Amino acid sequence: MSSNTLQGGGSGAKYTGKDHYESPDFYQLDDLLTDEQKLIRSSMRAFVKQEITPFIEDWCQQAIFPEHIVKKFGEIGAFGPTIPSLYGGGGLDYISYGLIMQEIERGDSGMRSTASVQGSLVMYPIFMFGTEEQKRKYLPKLANGEMLGCFGLTEPDHGSNPAGLTTNFRDQGDHYLLNGSKMWISNAPVADIAIVWAKDEDRRIHGLIVERGLEGFTTPETHGKWSLRASCTGELVFDNVKIPKENLLPVKSGLGAPLLCLDSARYGIAWGSIGAAMDCYYSARKYALERIQFEKPIASFQLIQKKLSEMLTEITKAQLLNWRLGDLMDQQKATTAQISLAKRNNVAVALEIAREARQIHGGMGITGDYSIMRHMMNLESVITYEGTHDIHLLILGNEITGIPAFN
Ligand SMILES: Cc1cc2nc3c(=O)[nH]c(=O)nc-3n(C[C@H](O)[C@H](O)[C@H](O)COP(=O)(O)OP(=O)(O)OC[C@H]3O[C@@H](n4cnc5c(N)ncnc54)[C@H](O)[C@@H]3O)c2cc1C
Repeated sequence: MSSNTLQGGGSGAKYTGKDHYESPDFYQLDDLLTDEQKLIRSSMRAFVKQEITPFIEDWCQQAIFPEHIVKKFGEIGAFGPTIPSLYGGGGLDYISYGLIMQEIERGDSGMRSTASVQGSLVMYPIFMFGTEEQKRKYLPKLANGEMLGCFGLTEPDHGSNPAGLTTNFRDQGDHYLLNGSKMWISNAPVADIAIVWAKDEDRRIHGLIVERGLEGFTTPETHGKWSLRASCTGELVFDNVKIPKENLLPVKSGLGAPLLCLDSARYGIAWGSIGAAMDCYYSARKYALERIQFEKPIASFQLIQKKLSEMLTEITKAQLLNWRLGDLMDQQKATTAQISLAKRNNVAVALEIAREARQIHGGMGITGDYSIMRHMMNLESVITYEGTHDIHLLILGNEITGIPAFN
C-alpha cells in the first residue's frame, strides 16, 4: 500500500481502519422500498465496505484495475441484475438495479463503470438483440464474472455524434471482415468480448460480438487518466478482422440499438452518481463536526451549514427522482428524455457536492486520506461519458420543443 493510504481510506474513515458509512434518508424513502430491495442494498453496502473501500484509494493512486473484482462482482450479483435468472442474471426490478449501482459508486465510480458496462452495455444488448444461442453462450459467463465485456461505440472522430461512426464490416460469404477503431472504451484492455457497433455495406449500424484473440484485433490501453483510475480504458482496433457470421446481433439494427443500451446504462449512472454524492456528504458532515477552528467545530459556522444543507437538499431531490424513474422503468414507461434528465441532473449535483465537500475538508480534502477528491475526479468522466452534460440538455430541448439542436 502507498504511504498515504490506510485501510478504510474511503468515506471519512481516515485512520479508523473501518468504513462506517451510512446513507442519508431525509424523506424516509426507505418506506418506499420493499424488504428485498433493502436487503439487496445492505448486502451491496457490506460488499463495498469489505471489498472496495479498504483498497480503492491504493488502486486509484497506482492506476490499477483490480481484475479479481470481476469474479467477486459476479458472485454478489452485480452483473446484469435485471437479466432473467434463466441466463444467469438476477431477475430483479430496476429499483434494485439502481440501488446496486448506488452502493458500488459510493465506493468508486470506476468500479461502478465496470459493473454498468458489463450489465447494461454487454449483457443487455445480447439479451435484447441476440439469438437464443448467443444468450446461452455468453450471458451466464458474463453474469458470474467468468467473462468480462466492453462496449465499443465511440470513435476517435465520433463521440457525441455516433451516427457518423465509420467502423465497418463487409460480407465475405462465410464471414464478415471488420475494419476501424474505437476509443475511450471502458474495460477494453482486459475484456474477453466486445460489443462493437459498425456499419454494413448499406451504412446501417449493427452490433457484433468480437472475441479477444481474433487475428487483427488489438486493445491498446489508454494511459495518463486523472479520472476513473481504477477502471481500465482503452481502444479497440480492427484490421481486417474475420468475424463469424453467427456473431452478428440480429434482432435490432440502426442507431436506436446502441442508444437503447445507453438508456439502461444512463439510468444506472443516475443512481450511481448519487451514491458518490452521499459518500461526499457523509464524509463532509463527519469532518465538519470533528474539525475544530476558532475553538469550535467548523460545523457550527453558518457557511458550513449552508453547504451541508444544500448537499442534503440536492441528494434528497435526486433520490426521489431516482425512485420514481425506477418505478417508471419497471412499468416500461420511462422515456429517453426522462433518463437524460436524471443522468444530467444527478451527475451535475454529485460533482457540485464533491466540490463543496472538498472545500469543507480544507487541505485534507485534496489527499487520498478521504474519498472526496477521487470522487470529484471520477465524476468529471461520468459527466462526459454516456452523453455529455450538454448533449443531455439538447435531448431535453428536443423533447420540449420538437426541434433537434444537435446540428
Ligand atoms: C473514462 C471514459 C470511459 C468511456 N467509456 C466508454 C465506453 O465504454 N464505450 C464507449 O463507446 N464510449 C466510452 N466513452 C466515450 C464517451 O461516451 C465520450 O467521451 C462522450 O460521448 C463524448 O464524446 P467526445 O469525448 O468525443 O467529445 P465530443 O463529442 O468531441 O464533445 C466535446 C465537447 O463538445 C460538445 N458538443 C459536441 N457536440 C455538440 C453539439 N451538437 N452541441 C453542443 N455541444 C456539443 C460536448 O458537449 C463536449 O462538451 C468513455 C469516455 C471516458 C472519458
